[in-house]
Order: sequence, then C-alpha cells, then structure tokens
Amino acid sequence: MALACADCGNEKSFQVKTLQMHVVQVGGAELELSDQSAPAVFELLCDECETEVDFAILDAEQRRELMLLLGAG
Ligand SMILES: [Zn+2]
Repeated sequence: MALACADCGNEKSFQVKTLQMHVVQVGGAELELSDQSAPAVFELLCDECETEVDFAILDAEQRRELMLLLGAG
C-alpha cells in the first residue's frame, strides 16, 4: 500500500480506528443484540508517532482492501 506518515516516514504500521453501531434490546432475562452496522473507518493514525494520516490518499482499491481486512467489506 502506498501509505506513509508525512511526519516520521513510517510506511509499515498504522492504527485504524473504527466506529460500529450495535442495537441492544433490553426486556427479557438477557440482553439481546438485535442489530449492528458494519464497522466504518473514522481515523487513520501512524503507529509510530500517532500523526493523523489522510485516508483520502488511499485509492478506491486500497480502501476496499482495508475494509475487507477489517471485516467491513
Ligand atoms: Zn509517523
């Protein structure tokens, strides 16, 4: 992947933060999960220096690859 940190030059290790929505039903004896969304990427950070990396530098193919990796494909 053509991904690099503009700050420290790291090209190997990145943190991807995702956001996922779950709907939990309360009422019976147990909590029940009734719905959940696929995780969406909301932040991409350099794992070395934690500088934010612009997700937009990835092309469509790389973005799809990343989403598949995260189980959101
Ligand atoms: Zn960095």
